[in-house]
Amino acid sequence: MTDQIRFEGNKTFALEMDSKDELRNFRNQYHIPKKEGKDAIYFCGNSLGLQPKEAAGLVENEMNRWRDLGVEGHFKGEWPWTQYHKAVVHPAMDIVGAKEEEIIHMNTLTVNLHLLMASFYKPTKDRHLIIMEAGAFPSDQYVVESQVRMHGFDPETSIVEVSPVDGETLISTDQIKELIRKNGDRTALVLFGGIQYFTGQCLDMAEISKVTHETGAFLGLDLAHAVGNVPLKLHEWGVDFAAWCTYKYLNSGPGAIGGVYIHKKYATDPTFPRLAGWYGYNAATRFLMQKKFQATPTAEGWQLSNAPILSFAPLIASHTLFQQAGMERLRNKSVRLTSYLTYLLDSIPAKERVFEIITPRESSARGAQLSLFTDHQGKALFQYLSERGVVCDWRENNLTEKGVGAAGVIRVAPTPMYNTFEEVYQFADYVSSFCGR
Ligand SMILES: *Cc1c(COP(=O)(O)O)cnc(C)c1O
Repeated sequence: MTDQIRFEGNKTFALEMDSKDELRNFRNQYHIPKKEGKDAIYFCGNSLGLQPKEAAGLVENEMNRWRDLGVEGHFKGEWPWTQYHKAVVHPAMDIVGAKEEEIIHMNTLTVNLHLLMASFYKPTKDRHLIIMEAGAFPSDQYVVESQVRMHGFDPETSIVEVSPVDGETLISTDQIKELIRKNGDRTALVLFGGIQYFTGQCLDMAEISKVTHETGAFLGLDLAHAVGNVPLKLHEWGVDFAAWCTYKYLNSGPGAIGGVYIHKKYATDPTFPRLAGWYGYNAATRFLMQKKFQATPTAEGWQLSNAPILSFAPLIASHTLFQQAGMERLRNKSVRLTSYLTYLLDSIPAKERVFEIITPRESSARGAQLSLFTDHQGKALFQYLSERGVVCDWRENNLTEKGVGAAGVIRVAPTPMYNTFEEVYQFADYVSSFCGR
């Protein structure tokens, strides 16, 4: 539906889209970085989201509670520190499509992937494979490699990667399904990024879940680039576990605490294997400090330590804004913003274009981000944009040897929470001027 708007390549049209945008006031809830006195065009929310104006006050509030209450802050106030991890469960349930008992915020993404694999990767001689995407985010590759080794297996023979077929940059759901089916009875775990960080491709998570479960393997998802970006229905899809960071589209601050989903089947089973700590101990009797771990029968049972309150406080500000805006409205605007960007970039004459959009064209197969695969002029284009107050990012080419002079990727992510159609127009106008020089 939203794909069918008749876009126009002029600023009046962009301004009109902004004036009709029911989410336009959310921009005022964020600090927008300045470049030479003007608001930057911040298209880097896929890497580090902007700061909600409420965040600093919430951190300061906890500093004051610590100053005034000392240890009693653990038990007093609206969100006593022992309960603090519950503060963003409800907004997170809507964002990822989960039940209350399936969510916990703790640690950071890479740490959580290890903890979840400790529970869900149980390789045996006959079933030890992990199926994942080739060129996954490096941290995910290192997690998987080291887990395989910890269990005494060899990454060469235990990791099966899905790569794009020759000449392509994307993988297809059919390819993934075929590989899972082919290796099904030897596979322990299927692990994918919901959205690929480099190409911006959004996978069909529901389909992958279905096929994975036909084989009896577990499915885990890294949602770093999907959370707060595309609608997720983890519980309905039957995903076994997922982890995400909250500092990208979720705007919770550098190194902010990570989110975890564990399907109810396992979350409510205190005997399900895990690495344990005192904060996962059944809350009712935790402070009796007894021997022998007894898990809280929810995802909280995976918590190890007491929550880092100061890095947790900004999550409340950011998640509250997500709850107010709603994922459905955010996604509708996001589809329009990114489709508009695609439309404008496509209208640059082909022979001038120094880039190729490698992100899928269909909005169902992508989120906010477009990845512009550039020729040797890529770095100059990136520089040109930076000088004009655009914040986006540059990634060296890690795809297969693709064409002579292929240099890298400029990732641009207009986010529906705080970006505008005017910014998209302005950005495309800069790219167009560069190409037409
Ligand atoms: C951003 C990102 C990470 C970052 O991991 P941290 O542990 O939060 O530093 C990991 N995996 C993917 C896919 C990412 O996009």
